Amino acid sequence: SPIIEMTGVSKWYESTQVLKGINFRVARGERVVVCGPSGSGKSTMIRCINRLEEQRDGKIIVNGVELDHTTKNVDVVRRDVGMVFQQFNLFPHLTVLQNLMIAPLKIRKMPKPEAEATARQYLERVRIAEHADKYPSQLSGGQQQRVAIARALCMKPKVMLFDEPTSALDPEMVQEVLDVMVSLAREGMTMVCVTHEMGFARSVADRVVFMDAGMIVEEGLPHQFFSDP
Ligand code: ADP
Ligand code: ADP
Repeated sequence: SPIIEMTGVSKWYESTQVLKGINFRVARGERVVVCGPSGSGKSTMIRCINRLEEQRDGKIIVNGVELDHTTKNVDVVRRDVGMVFQQFNLFPHLTVLQNLMIAPLKIRKMPKPEAEATARQYLERVRIAEHADKYPSQLSGGQQQRVAIARALCMKPKVMLFDEPTSALDPEMVQEVLDVMVSLAREGMTMVCVTHEMGFARSVADRVVFMDAGMIVEEGLPHQFFSDP
């Protein structure tokens, strides 16, 4: 079965409908890039997948669990779904290592030595190990975003959602973040990425979904949307 199944999902902000009957499925191991103009609902759609937003109508099932109105299901889904935001969203008063340990300790109830070992393993993985004891403000944007990716990976998610992860970065830092995402894709991580990075879409996407005005208006293979450089 698909890991993500959205059927007939609609979402409103007051009197404005921002998602209009979204049908979206993601298979295990699939890499999907979501693109479309600003305001078309890309961010809202993926935020519904881990219940940062709640749909008004329609059904969302993640890894076999339906996102209904009970909190219990939401917690289960947030353990399976890692998310990376445009603005990093790291805790400024915690060190890099503490940022990575907090969810495994509190949500997964991992013993502290295991949480620390996991954190250090993923910091190594995104090549930030030497900055473990620094605070986010002491790192570059690219380094902070790699920390944010490592933090999501510490929960051992089954799917990773990326919401314009390189849009807030200085241009010279974009590639170091894309490199981490490409290596995750190569390892078989299921990924849904909202991004304007065409090179990334061409090299890793199995499928590109194009949104406009709250609807999925087209989908296909990357080369159908992005011509070769
Ligand atoms: P995209 O990610 O494609 O830029 P969004 O999902 O962020 O689009 O936004 C879709 C629409 O919903 C836009 O018109 C945006 O202004 C509106 N919107 C997003 N968040 C809110 C909110 N919290 N309250 C009201 N309107 C919102
Ligand atoms: P993006 O397009 O990258 O999603 P936006 O600039 O549209 O970013 O939105 C930034 C933040 O503002 C988001 O948290 C979004 O939910 C909120 N937002 C966007 N549009 C509105 C709106 N019309 N009213 C209230 N909040 C909004």
